[in-house]
Amino acid sequence: MKFSDLALDERILRAVAEKGYETPTPIQEGAIPKVLNGDDVIGVAQTGTGKTAAFSIPTLQILTEKAHTRRGKHTIKGLILTPTRELAIQIAENLDEYGKYLDLKYLVIFGGVGQNPQVKALQRGVDLLVATPGRLLDLMNQGHIDVRNIEFFVLDEADRMLDMGFVHDVRKVLKLLPASRQNLLFSATMPNNIVTLAKGFMSDPQTVAVTPPSTTAERVDQAVYYVAKGDKRRLLRHLLMDKIRGQVLVFSRTKHGANRIVKDLNADGIDAAAIHGNKSQTARQKALGAFKDGSLRVLVATDIAARGIDVEELPQVIQFDLPNVAETYVHRIGRTGRAGSSGQAIAFCDTDEKAYLRDIYKLTKQKIEIIDDHAYVLADDGEPDPQRAIPANGRDKHQHPRNPEHQGGGGRGRGRGRQGGGGGRGRGRSGSGGGGRSSATSGSGGSGNRGRR
Ligand code: AMP
Repeated sequence: MKFSDLALDERILRAVAEKGYETPTPIQEGAIPKVLNGDDVIGVAQTGTGKTAAFSIPTLQILTEKAHTRRGKHTIKGLILTPTRELAIQIAENLDEYGKYLDLKYLVIFGGVGQNPQVKALQRGVDLLVATPGRLLDLMNQGHIDVRNIEFFVLDEADRMLDMGFVHDVRKVLKLLPASRQNLLFSATMPNNIVTLAKGFMSDPQTVAVTPPSTTAERVDQAVYYVAKGDKRRLLRHLLMDKIRGQVLVFSRTKHGANRIVKDLNADGIDAAAIHGNKSQTARQKALGAFKDGSLRVLVATDIAARGIDVEELPQVIQFDLPNVAETYVHRIGRTGRAGSSGQAIAFCDTDEKAYLRDIYKLTKQKIEIIDDHAYVLADDGEPDPQRAIPANGRDKHQHPRNPEHQGGGGRGRGRGRQGGGGGRGRGRSGSGGGGRSSATSGSGGSGNRGRR
């Protein structure tokens, strides 16, 4: 199937073609026709599968049809709710790209920044609103958001939304929306609480599921370095200086750890910056912007901050710490090898982390190459190689070490404000007046707004 086989507006097809996309990814192929058909759709897909376009493209199609019937009056007709501001910005960037030839206005709102620019942009008129839950409710409660015309609702990353404690906010928002509307829900996993939530607001939903998390890793070359905790920073420096070229996303379990890594790398003359919940939104956007445009070589991120980072053709990911939840490993390596391209994922593993590695093997059932010809090889710690330690029947007698430092997944942003703390960009992403997109960004009208951040 090709995009041109889908019943999409010629202007959307043109924008998609300019992105260089010809063939829809499986989630897009499954979801787009159902959404265009008017069905409520549950998409089980994680970041990296093309799921943002899977809901953005048909959303634009439907709204542009609705816009015709309303003679271009810019009232909010669609709402996309997503847990983090990075994801919100990412979605808005996708809308800007796929919808750049449409007469629609998009706005992204999130907390941690002053609300005035967002309120002003709302007053200028918006067709499609992308929002994080806290700020959305704030502005709704203050009467700045007219929800009466909303006919299209997307809940993105529903599992993450619930993990982050947004379930009550989501339910509150749902109560305030008009009852008659089309609903989409996207989630990487479908635990019972999501199924219950979906039942509560969706009508006869059609489910489209793609590749379970463990298969995402297949197109990524994976390698592990056994190394003592105290040698990790030296090993990282060695790899970045002598072994690997190009940009690297480094995962750190904790915010503090991320800062330390950056400080060390900078001291060695390696261009690196950190993003995590304690950084101001300005600092995060600056680092992400520099990383995306290629001027920053190393971005060090905690898991929560890294969600939603979508850098095309990111070749390498290094896990400085292994996560204690095996699925997180898969999410992290999914940052590279996106949408069919290949990538390389390196993990550092110290003695305490061997138990985590064992869980990872059990989940992915994939071989990870062990690199043992480096200067910081872990001395024999008596712990067997986890890859060999899994008995043939798959049962594992080893217990996780009790190591409180490894609990709680640093960077989950505990204690942050519900919008994830930090500042946010005040920029309203309202496309300009009648012309749709922001005139400030449409520039020469050529290749869209990819470079704008
Ligand atoms: P997502 O799962 O939405 O985070 O998308 C992952 C990546 O796939 C992004 O870099 C998209 O730009 C890219 N992408 C989305 N759809 C396609 C497609 N049909 N063909 C190639 N790349 C795509």
